[in-house]
Amino acid sequence: MSLIAENLLKIQQSIPENVTLVAVSKTKPVADLQEAYNAGQRVFGENKIQEMVDKYNVLPKDIKWHMIGHLQSNKVKYMAHFVDLIHGVDKFKTLKEINKQAKKHNRVIDCLLQAKIAKEDTKFGLSFHEIEAILASEETLELKNINIVGFMGMATFTDNETQLQEEFSSLKTLFDKFKTQNPSLKILSMGMSGDYKLAISNGSNMIRVGSSIFGNRNYNS
Ligand SMILES: *Cc1c(COP(=O)(O)O)cnc(C)c1O
Repeated sequence: MSLIAENLLKIQQSIPENVTLVAVSKTKPVADLQEAYNAGQRVFGENKIQEMVDKYNVLPKDIKWHMIGHLQSNKVKYMAHFVDLIHGVDKFKTLKEINKQAKKHNRVIDCLLQAKIAKEDTKFGLSFHEIEAILASEETLELKNINIVGFMGMATFTDNETQLQEEFSSLKTLFDKFKTQNPSLKILSMGMSGDYKLAISNGSNMIRVGSSIFGNRNYNS
């Protein structure tokens, strides 16, 4: 068995059945994705639209492509015909653009609102108040070609488990609150290689794991 297949199996066996594993393949060559595919993996996450399009074009068409990166509105059109889930929506304006491009392809695109849960200034995301406003707004309801299916959060890069736990559980609390009024909210995307176990124990049902599957990324190549 290849190393990638072994890593996938190890992770799959250690997570509950209701948790979806997104294999984060950014910067990795197509051969690595094909190896993961051959091992049964069907959900892949990329953070750059162009790179995702290039990989989509050459890999099997039953792959579900998740855009997990920060979005530039002017590039949404390149993935609108195939993207399965967009994790990183942090502006109403982006939702409008996704809606517009989805409509051209007669699709409804699933989106997650990215919440800012980390204490760091560098992480993108909406405040809980802004999320509330987007969910409640008439303007959002008018967007028939997008479906807000949940939230995404990235915790602070730290070993402090108490802090991670606080950040994850704050978003879980918000998720539970809105889920009762809005049954289309089903996905809570939290957790990466370093913190997915903690994220799952705090209510995550979708994890985005890269380096624990494919090895460390080399951004210089
Ligand atoms: C790169 C990335 C991941 C995966 O990170 P690893 O630490 O390699 O598992 C998860 N989520 C987002 C948004 C990312 O950009």
